[in-house]
Amino acid sequence: MENNKGLKIILIILIILTITVFVAITILYLMDKKEEAAPNTSYSAKASAVIQKYNLTNTINNKEYSQTLETILEANLFDPQYLDAYYEINYQEDQNFPYTISKLLTKNYNSTEINYIYDNYSNCLNILLDMNYINITNLNKLSNFDPSKLERYLQYHKTNNQYDIATIVTYVNIGLDLEGYSNYVSYTTEDTSSYKILVNKYHKLPNDYEPSDLVPLSYNSNLLLREVAAEAFEQLTSAATLDQVYFYPFSAYRSYTTQSVLYTRYKERDGETKADTYSARPGFSEHQLGLAVDVRSPNLADNITPETYEWLLNNSYKYGFIVRYPKGKQYITQYMEEPWHIRYLGIDLATKVHASNLTYDEYYDLYLETR
Ligand SMILES: [Zn+2]
Repeated sequence: MENNKGLKIILIILIILTITVFVAITILYLMDKKEEAAPNTSYSAKASAVIQKYNLTNTINNKEYSQTLETILEANLFDPQYLDAYYEINYQEDQNFPYTISKLLTKNYNSTEINYIYDNYSNCLNILLDMNYINITNLNKLSNFDPSKLERYLQYHKTNNQYDIATIVTYVNIGLDLEGYSNYVSYTTEDTSSYKILVNKYHKLPNDYEPSDLVPLSYNSNLLLREVAAEAFEQLTSAATLDQVYFYPFSAYRSYTTQSVLYTRYKERDGETKADTYSARPGFSEHQLGLAVDVRSPNLADNITPETYEWLLNNSYKYGFIVRYPKGKQYITQYMEEPWHIRYLGIDLATKVHASNLTYDEYYDLYLETR
């Protein structure tokens, strides 16, 4: 009996001990839990309230404090799907910051792109917010991308979103987002020495520029070209004749004064808007270079047959010429199609331009423009 009693006491003590240990562990566990659930004190009360509402206390407490996150939380713009991005986006001292990054995130910009935009193009934020996503970090990889023109690229893209960003960059570099003649490069006389020179509604020759090496063409001594272009033209016509394709020059070098007389006559007859579609204003004509010829087919006063046009498209580059205003490219050249107008560039460059299938305006911007 005595033994039995002793055992009972030991058993009771053991039970009490077990319960005590269990209760103690539970209390400790709950205390620990409670401590872990306390919001990170680095965040403001307003931010913490939002963190608790989303049950993200533990997740956020396990990470370092983020001012970007706090700003988003305080602005009531928090979206849990962008939690990681908030941590990656560098905080900016800008009162629109939470709104701006929220909008950019919903447009599918990632945190790297958002940091890049703030670092490089914060002046263009409003335009970016007003348009669909564009791959802005890829822009830098385009050889002809000019960071100073970003605002123009974005503005042009907004109204011309049928073009990809590479096309937008080239077109804006050419100047197509601006009215022709409104903003142009004025060449110096030194610039005119190169056969590669680009002349269009955005590039003007000096009024007094006249090539020093003009020579008459054998077909008509009143028609002049620079010597190298004149020789190339004779070879071009000989090659055409061998292929039984016939054409004759009807206009070649034209001085600033001659172009001025012509343009004024057209303007008075058809009005400025119409005249600008087919005649260059003085100083903006390739004919002043002495490197351009207009050719006609027999029985046509100032045009060529479709067969001759095809022949010129496929063969003129072999002799150094390109068709400068081809059919279907009016929106780039800013002139109506002029199948009869060929421009001398030299065989090497004309071959490259021909192979590129680009207008000279595009080719020049992509491969010849010095930046
Ligand atoms: Zn012409």
